[in-house]
Amino acid sequence: MNIQNYINGQYANPLNNEWLDNYCPSNGDIYGQIPNSSKEDIELAYQAAKEAFQTWSQTTPEERSRILIKISELLEQNLERFAEAESKDNGKPVSLANTVDIPRAASNFRFFGNAITQFASESHESVGQDAINYTLRQPIGVVGCISPWNLPLYLFTWKIAPAIAAGNCVVAKPSEVTPMTAYLLGEICTKAGLPKGVLNIVHGLGTTTGQAIVEHPEIKAISFTGGTTTGAHIARTAAPMFKKLSLELGGKNPNLIFADCDYEDMLNTTVRSSFANQGQICLCGSRIFVEAGIYKRFKADFIAKVKTLKVGHPSKSDTNIGALVSKPHLEKVLGYIERAEEENNTILCGGKKVSVAGFENGYYLEPTVIEVTSNECNTNQEEIFGPVVTIMPFSTEDEALKIANDVKYGLSAALWTNNLKRTMRLSAKLQVGIVWVNTWMLRDLRTPFGGMKASGVGREGGFEALRFFTEAKNVCIKY
Ligand code: NDP
Repeated sequence: MNIQNYINGQYANPLNNEWLDNYCPSNGDIYGQIPNSSKEDIELAYQAAKEAFQTWSQTTPEERSRILIKISELLEQNLERFAEAESKDNGKPVSLANTVDIPRAASNFRFFGNAITQFASESHESVGQDAINYTLRQPIGVVGCISPWNLPLYLFTWKIAPAIAAGNCVVAKPSEVTPMTAYLLGEICTKAGLPKGVLNIVHGLGTTTGQAIVEHPEIKAISFTGGTTTGAHIARTAAPMFKKLSLELGGKNPNLIFADCDYEDMLNTTVRSSFANQGQICLCGSRIFVEAGIYKRFKADFIAKVKTLKVGHPSKSDTNIGALVSKPHLEKVLGYIERAEEENNTILCGGKKVSVAGFENGYYLEPTVIEVTSNECNTNQEEIFGPVVTIMPFSTEDEALKIANDVKYGLSAALWTNNLKRTMRLSAKLQVGIVWVNTWMLRDLRTPFGGMKASGVGREGGFEALRFFTEAKNVCIKY
């Protein structure tokens, strides 16, 4: 299926008429073409957004809310179609797209549709000075949203929904490897009554189409989710123009498992936090550290469970692990496994490509567990972003904290313990933006989301996202 850009409320071919192949990860076939858009398409999208901003920025929060909630309802009504498209494009099990990706994309619109009606101005009375201050939260104008391939519609809408809820108009680019559901979203937005030009979706390569969004002098804010290297490049490009930036980047998240945890719950959740979405979630717990007293038991039980995971075609209901997103990504992950062995780490299970009958050219990989001897090895320091986790024992709480923090990333951590004091101590000291205690990926959309260190700058989620997508202006009145 070939797709088009969505600019000014209409589907259109790229101006240069250049196209890129879109590959199906589950069988390696080319199944369509996508626009290889140039900076001229970005300019067209910008002009449409600029024009739409004149009226969209003047609408009431209630008017915007009504349209966002309508988009959410239409996504829910089209759940199967979107889930199938997401699974085919990305390689993820359709059961995951059905239950997580698409429902969550719909929730993003519903949540920010509601949140904007509750986004009140602050006011401060300057007592003794006969003055009152109030803060206007005004939309920025035209903003850019750039998203990755791992949770395509989920992360695309995580940015777009708050941006338009706050009264901005958007030029957005999904990952070139997974453009399909972003393409379908255009049609839904038109049906929901989103005025033309409020959302413009331009497909193409990061280094050209994405770069043109970041370089555009009139696109005043960029919300970006993707790799740390790309994030640093975007920050350098945007800095001289003083753009607002929100960067949600990579992670190498620690799972700290203490002997006093609820063992079965920990074991089942740790399998999920390791391999959900083929391990291609920035929040996956890729470094597992286990208290020495239960290390041997954990190692045996964990491997036994991992071996039961079924690698298969994403459309099959019993598939736990689908295909990796692309051939280059599969090769990259295999390269990390090879290097793990060169570093004298031990592959406890997995590590090899899987040939799924009938789909032999698909990008399948066994879920892989590597035992490392030190947290300092590259395998424990670099983001692999595939179905690969490491395990290692620790002796004391201090040691656990040290190795958890001893990495350049700082996105999330999971802590497994029933000791309240330890929970409070470690949660305060872990250098991450999100700590889960006795759970993983339980998300409340009102909470701040984002990372420290090389995992990013800024926070999204709840009012944090609405703050990012607005300019605060203080008005001080002397009476
Ligand atoms: P990339 O950084 O390669 O790409 C992300 C997006 O940026 C894509 O749309 C890409 O386009 C685009 N892009 C690439 N180069 C540029 C550029 N010079 N200017 C503007 N845009 C550009 O990341 P991946 O798609 O490979 O995603 C995986 C990464 O995302 C992992 O590191 C993961 O940890 C991180 N991530 C972080 C999350 C978080 O919330 N912190 C959540 C999910 C993922 P194209 O694909 O066409 O190259």
